[in-house]
Amino acid sequence: MIPISTQQINPNLYTSPYINPYYGGYGQPPYYTNESTSNDPQQAAKTLGLAALLQVISTGLEKGSKILSNKLSAGKEFTTPDKVVKVAKDMVTKNNLDVTVGFVDEANKAAYATRYGLGKEIEAVAKGENAFFANKIKLAVAPKSKPSLILHELGHAINAKHGFTKFLQGTRKYAGYAPMALLLANGLISNDKPGEKKNFIERNAGILGFCAFLPTIAEEAIASGRGIKAAKKVLNNPAGLKILKKNYALALGTYILAGIGLGVAAKQSFIFNEKEQ
Ligand SMILES: [Zn+2]
Repeated sequence: MIPISTQQINPNLYTSPYINPYYGGYGQPPYYTNESTSNDPQQAAKTLGLAALLQVISTGLEKGSKILSNKLSAGKEFTTPDKVVKVAKDMVTKNNLDVTVGFVDEANKAAYATRYGLGKEIEAVAKGENAFFANKIKLAVAPKSKPSLILHELGHAINAKHGFTKFLQGTRKYAGYAPMALLLANGLISNDKPGEKKNFIERNAGILGFCAFLPTIAEEAIASGRGIKAAKKVLNNPAGLKILKKNYALALGTYILAGIGLGVAAKQSFIFNEKEQ
């Protein structure tokens, strides 16, 4: 999960991209192209106001995410590449991981592309803009210029071996569908109280959308925790560890913002839907 790249990756293959989740695929409803059809002008004005506010929040979240990503790319490494390899090897051995670990640069990217059938994804890693763990092809890669990211990816590889964290990891590919799923669910239930205009899902679309992303945020945090724990055990370097923790916190920050973004998107989809009726 390194939140630097803006490229979309195939969620079916890359279960745990260390990539800016902001660009992970849930789109925003194009509500701004629709005229309000509400009969109540006051209600229509209110809806439009909320829509505009949500759009401002959404843009702000995206900007915030970019700031965190840039800070992370500019951040220094917590230790030397040799020592990162040492920690990585320890993680692989201790956890019995059946994973190929790679550090990618411009010189070796073609070999990875051919061997694993990769395209844009490996390109981004070579540029230092991404790192990922792909369970299907049992591959964990980080940029040669930012090797410390591999420890987080190996954290994902360990997560993939354990029931609960594997489940959390699996929810990632569905989280982006939350706004759509909520709309569908909303169509299946009637308003809970007579006389009340909105039902539970309509009232809580934002928080429900965010909740859909919580398992992903949790799994990201656990993956980082595993990397930090391994680094702490293998290296005696408290100052370095502080840098690693800071870098991983920045990365997690982008996921939290993405979760809020998903909540906003869910709310927006309901406003769009309201105006369609
Ligand atoms: Zn990650």
